[in-house]
This record gives sequence, structure tokens and C-alpha cells, in this order.
Amino acid sequence: MTEHGLQTIHQRESALLAPYAMFSLSSAGRQHREPEHAYRSPFQRDRDRIVHSAAYRRLSGKMQVFTGDMGDYHRTRLTHTQEVASIARTMGRALRLNEDLVEALALFHDIGHPPFGHAGEDALAECLADDGGFSHNQYALTIAEQLETRHQSFPGLNLTKETLEGQATRVDKAAGNHHPLLEAQVVEAADSMTYDAHDVDDALKLGLVTLEEVHDQEMIKICVAIIADRRSDLGPAEYKRALIHTMVDCQVSNVLENAGPFLQTVGWQSTEDVRNSDYRIATVGELADAKKEMEAFLYERVYRHPELVKTRERAQAQIHKLFETFMNNPKAMPERFLSRIEHVGLHRSVGDYIAGMTDRFFEQQYLGFVGS
Ligand code: MG
Repeated sequence: MTEHGLQTIHQRESALLAPYAMFSLSSAGRQHREPEHAYRSPFQRDRDRIVHSAAYRRLSGKMQVFTGDMGDYHRTRLTHTQEVASIARTMGRALRLNEDLVEALALFHDIGHPPFGHAGEDALAECLADDGGFSHNQYALTIAEQLETRHQSFPGLNLTKETLEGQATRVDKAAGNHHPLLEAQVVEAADSMTYDAHDVDDALKLGLVTLEEVHDQEMIKICVAIIADRRSDLGPAEYKRALIHTMVDCQVSNVLENAGPFLQTVGWQSTEDVRNSDYRIATVGELADAKKEMEAFLYERVYRHPELVKTRERAQAQIHKLFETFMNNPKAMPERFLSRIEHVGLHRSVGDYIAGMTDRFFEQQYLGFVGS
């Protein structure tokens, strides 16, 4: 106990976490040393720093898949992030992982998204093609290590090595030389479950696909069978809600029913054992196949829907133009991006400035500097 009679973080974690979880006491710490907090774990502090960052607040003004012009029902990048955190914490808690680290990683995972979602990312990657490209996962690290400030003596949020490492494993998944901690793996699994479900929900609401078309998908057939087993008296709105809810619920159950027994029997005693294994927490079996099919359907019918293609092309052309404008007139950027030029070069500094913008701020800047 602490002098104020509080349970220490270590006491709490020893009672709750599995041996393969990331314990606060085993953290490799922060780049810039800071004293421990009296009652918040290092990962809780990471979470709090992320929540209080400007980049996190800006997620409310960044589109997930559908723009702000299309209505106010669908997810923004912020509400997507909150759904991911909620689902990842459910899995993390059930598997006795470090829930604070899970939450920090979930709230952090999309913080580097530029305006206009993947369209914006692709356009910035083209603008920066000769300078190392652009990846929203990498840019999240730039935000956390360079662009945000919370202390005058060093740049960045000074997050723990584990939070930064968890995000770094997202940058180059194909490289295969990083084996993420289980806390990062549940966030990865939760991310795709979340967008599969909410993109179906949003696309139905926006009328981009019909319920009949969705019913042809194996994933939905599985969900319909589960719902029919439980309830038979649902009205249309309740039925649709149940479908979306069941999409998440059956995937979470699938993951836990498989990862749970695996982790029980494999006998891992530390995060070292996790890091030495290429095991990944994910949806498995028939449901995993159904998930792949669902994602192909979403790609074809939703992400490549003519209405979204139109928005995508417009956003990309505008990003190219605004990028060019700041390249020709860097002084139009705020001082902190102007002074970054000598450290990271003109291209990167312009890219970093644009990437941080919300959709609305981008449009204002475009109108101001390029015109309508
Ligand atoms: Mg995401």
C-alpha cells in the first residue's frame, strides 16, 4: 500500500494480469526520464497524454469513410477510435492483459490520419514519393515524438517505449521482424472488427448498399442465424442494430474462444515469450473466411462506390494543390512548421502540416490559398 492507503500499481497488476501481459514495472520507460506518478500507471499516463493532445481532439474533425457533408449519423475518426478502444479493452480484460496499455494503444492508433482518410493518405504519399512517402501509422509517431508538446525541455508527449513500439509494429506489418505485444494484437484485431461492422451500418444508413445485398454475405448469414436463435420479435430498426452488434459480438467471442485456451496452455511466462512467437490474436476458422469476404464486399461496393470515388478524387486533387502552394510559399505556414524545414526539409514539413489538418480546416486553407 502507498502512504495514503492506496493499492500500488504493482499490487493491482499482480492480482489481475496474466504472466504474458505487459506489466508496468517491466516497462522500458520513457526517452526523457520522469518520476513515477503516485497512483497512475505509466500506461494510464500515456492514455491521458494522448486524450489531452491536440491531435486526438482533431480526430473529431477527420472523416473515417464518409465525409461530414454526407450526414451526421456515420462514424468520424474519433468515434471509430472510441469503438476500437471499447472492444479492445473487452478482449484485453478477458485475456488478463494490461488494459491501460490496450487503451493507450487504441486511442493512439489512428491519431496520424490526415484529412480525408485514405484518400488523403494516398495523395500525401504521392506528394512525398521522393522523400520517403507518407504513412498515417508513421505520422502518429511523428506527432507523439516531435509535433505535440507538453514539456518545455523536450518535444513530444514522451510516451513509454511500449506504446511507441506498439504503434511502430503497425507501420511495417509486412516486415515481420516485430512481434507485437498481445496488448497491441488485441487493438489490431479490434480495429478491423470495428470498421467492418460500422462501415456496414453507415453504408446501410446512407443507402449505398441495401439490406438484401448485405444478406448475401456469409458473415451476415452467420449473424442472422445467431439472432434468430435468440430473438424472433425484432422490428426493422432493432433488427439492423442487432445485426451490427452481432457482427462485433461473434468476432470478439471467436477471438476469445480461440486465444483464451491457447494462452492458457502455451505457458508463456513473460512478454519475452510473446515477442519470440509469431502467434497472432485474430478471428479464426469459417468466421475469418466470412470476414475476408465481407471486407472484399465493402471494398467493392462501399469504398469504391461512385459517390465516394468522387469525394476521393476531389480531395486528392485539392491536397496536391495545397501541397504545391505551401511548397512555393512556405511562409504561409505557421512558424513551428516553417522552423521545422531546416530539420526535416521543405517537403516533409509541408506534408506534416497538411497531415495534421482536420477536413474542415483543410477546406478553409484551400479556399484561402488556392481558391474555390
Ligand atoms: Mg482504425
